[in-house]
Amino acid sequence: MRFLITGGAGFIGSHLAEYLLARGDQVIVLDDLSTGSIENIRHLKSDPRLSYFLEPIENRHVLAELVDEADIVFHLAAAVGVRLIIESPVHTIETNVNGTQLVLEAACKKRKPVFCASTSEVYGKSTHIPFTEDSDLVLGATSKARWSYAASKAVEEFLALSYWKEKRQPVVIGRLFNTVGPRQTGRYGMVLPNFVQQALDRRPLTVFGSGQQSRCFCHVMDSVEAIVRLMSNERAIGEVVNIGSQNEITIEGLARLVKERTGSDSPIQMVPYDEAYEPGFEDMVRRVPSLKKLESLTGFRPQTSLTEIVDRVVAYMTEKQRLMAVAAIASAGE
Ligand code: UDP
Repeated sequence: MRFLITGGAGFIGSHLAEYLLARGDQVIVLDDLSTGSIENIRHLKSDPRLSYFLEPIENRHVLAELVDEADIVFHLAAAVGVRLIIESPVHTIETNVNGTQLVLEAACKKRKPVFCASTSEVYGKSTHIPFTEDSDLVLGATSKARWSYAASKAVEEFLALSYWKEKRQPVVIGRLFNTVGPRQTGRYGMVLPNFVQQALDRRPLTVFGSGQQSRCFCHVMDSVEAIVRLMSNERAIGEVVNIGSQNEITIEGLARLVKERTGSDSPIQMVPYDEAYEPGFEDMVRRVPSLKKLESLTGFRPQTSLTEIVDRVVAYMTEKQRLMAVAAIASAGE
């Protein structure tokens, strides 16, 4: 089979590419490297079954060509990360909604099945734990930039579902909960790579708000497994499915766990939301997925424990730091 992955040089996309190539499939990556990085796929470049195009998704001709070549499209290209959303809301809304529209339009010409990556952000401030796919979305005021991400992702979901209902374009929507693992960068505000980097640098671990807000962290390879299984199941077409784990922990608890696994003596520093993001910032207190639908469609439920996830991220970032130090010494000696 041949798969097109938009955002294939991103954190999740590159793991998906690696998984499919290891299985013997062909992979086409389309990525403009806006938040992705060529480093994420460097180790795959020598594989003749991989081809990659460093183009924006807005390049309709390239997109149409690549969609034509593929059997299935994984649409993961998006502007993500709460920090990016707050700093560049126009870019976030436009990139996400336009990108999805272009992919669906191109795929629809030949009815190529599309996986659309959505997010648990769409549940907003809902307190109905665990979140089930058909529950109400509870978003904050439009004056608060954070909610623009949830709203734009909800529009993408509506659009994808409408393509299915009205035009019989096969789509599957995955609502990704907090996904973590090697290659995730802390640059866009994601908590785990930030904490690990801070712990390794022996800087304070910055816990925003009270630290009592909780999240469920899922290893990226578990998410990839779920995504691939969903796309090989006819019953998933036209469905919205949560993808995540039930590894729930408070953010303060996560900071303590990172300190423990790295052996770092970094202090934990509480930072008010107003300072961390912007005045009036609203966070969600708990975010836990119901995994019943995922399990009934795929027979799969993410299992990697939180300790194992943290250890893998620590190992990855430690090695990366070591390689950077070696490169710096080598270039100083030139
Ligand atoms: N967070 C934190 N310190 C950081 C980065 C994030 O305390 O350096 C908090 C953030 O406010 C949120 C949680 O960690 O409550 C998860 O943040 P992330 O951006 O990783 O994902 P989100 O769940 O907000 O999409």
